[in-house]
Amino acid sequence: MTRLSVLVGAMICSSLLPSLAGAQDLGPNVRRIKDGIYVQSAREVNSTVGIVLTRDGVVLIDTGQTPLDWREVEGAVRKLTPLPVRYVINTEVHPDHTAGNFVFSPPALVINHSGAADAMRKADNPARYATASPEVRAAAEGYRLVTPYIEYHDRLTLHVGERTFELLRLRNAHSEADTAVWLPAERVLFAASVAIPNSLNNIRPFVTLADMLAAIKMMRALNPEVVVPGHGSFGTTQMFDENERYFGLLIERVGAMARQGKTLDQIQKELRMPEYSHWAYQERMPTNVDAAYRAVTQR
Ligand SMILES: [Zn+2]
Repeated sequence: MTRLSVLVGAMICSSLLPSLAGAQDLGPNVRRIKDGIYVQSAREVNSTVGIVLTRDGVVLIDTGQTPLDWREVEGAVRKLTPLPVRYVINTEVHPDHTAGNFVFSPPALVINHSGAADAMRKADNPARYATASPEVRAAAEGYRLVTPYIEYHDRLTLHVGERTFELLRLRNAHSEADTAVWLPAERVLFAASVAIPNSLNNIRPFVTLADMLAAIKMMRALNPEVVVPGHGSFGTTQMFDENERYFGLLIERVGAMARQGKTLDQIQKELRMPEYSHWAYQERMPTNVDAAYRAVTQR
């Protein structure tokens, strides 16, 4: 080998190494979706965080399932760019998406649909991490509730650097305030927690299946290339189709039993959905049956 080829080899290696090391150093749970768009999630059922880089700074979509996730996101952002986090968009009000707001805000501005701050204040528990492991408690150091600075109605367009973010309200779809985030140029959709792949949702009494199905339909009509659900792996609109099929079958079976005169209690005991027994969170099935019963009896 000539000295020149050794030199050229060394140059190629040194020019490749920083970018390879960079990709690995982002953290074990950070994946790249597209140029400048990353998703963090530590386990299949955990909440997801979107990290979107722009030339004017970073936009985060949610902040992570646990304090350890907040810190992984914080570290990944620092490695990706020296620019500040400008906005944190919350896709819902629950702490597994929002409790890490304080890590980034201030200076970041937190945004969600109107009603979010009220709901977050009512559910806040300052001692949330008091009994956690020492590692988690250390990561949660400084925890305080940070509610949205900006609450919008129906929809909001955000221009940050070269990117456009459409914030779309999802009505009665999961929590007291749910927001989908659509990047029309990149065709990436952060879809909040309406259609979670391979998992039953916890359907609260104020959520209706009609509104969930309307949200799914609206989001599919955007024709996204990549869908990032509020929990679980990112994929395609197939997750919308699967959830729609599941809800259709649930409504059909609960409806048939209700028409036979069965009470909600009887339906809760007798209903079987073996096609979906492999989905996570089977203990949430009673909330699903309740929602289907409300739908078929119009309560
Ligand atoms: Zn939630």
